Amino acid sequence: MTEVKMMTYFVTFEPGRDGQHVVHSERCQVLIRGETDEVGAFADSTAAVRLVQALYDPVIACPICCGAGQSRARLAVAEAQGG
Ligand SMILES: [Zn+2]
Repeated sequence: MTEVKMMTYFVTFEPGRDGQHVVHSERCQVLIRGETDEVGAFADSTAAVRLVQALYDPVIACPICCGAGQSRARLAVAEAQGG
């Protein structure tokens, strides 16, 4: 039995400083719901980014919630918030 944890992903309406739209997961600490469009539920950020690329260009995965160093980034955010 394989259990795949689905997570809802979002994309920013407006491009960021680099001119790139950013894909966030529902658990992202910097996600602002009012400034994002719901993409849908995916097993990982790669699938979400691939779908979003058909709608927005260029697109990057948020390094905080989707990055390879995900847990380390989360820790950094927690530390920055004094947690
Ligand atoms: Zn994020």
